[in-house]
Amino acid sequence: MTYVFTCEKCEESREEIRSLSDMPQDGSLICSCGSRMWRDYGKEQAGVRQASDQTYGHKISIAMECDRDQVAENMKFDREHGLAGTEYRCTEDGLGAGPVYTSRLHQKRYEESRGCFNKDGGFGDSQPE
Ligand SMILES: [Zn+2]
Repeated sequence: MTYVFTCEKCEESREEIRSLSDMPQDGSLICSCGSRMWRDYGKEQAGVRQASDQTYGHKISIAMECDRDQVAENMKFDREHGLAGTEYRCTEDGLGAGPVYTSRLHQKRYEESRGCFNKDGGFGDSQPE
């Protein structure tokens, strides 16, 4: 998985090849200028768009969308609820970020952790309590 980080100050971008378990805890890196570099979802998506939407691995949930600055918070929540490694990508309009479900089970667990359910789902999908 290639992640793109962009410095908040000098706007330098850096590509990092990492596994999800190797991601920095707060989602940022330190730039050579000393400022923080944050995940750049826009640039990441530009590079992988072709492969998107073909597989479950790239199903971005619009329903569970959050603000891009809430991603770090969501990743912390995920770690505390057995969903560590859930990836977030920016949504079509570039304003928000949604979790990327890797399977139906992942989707079910993610939605249930938030007290939600998939109203269009069938047996085996998350259900209301
Ligand atoms: Zn910098």
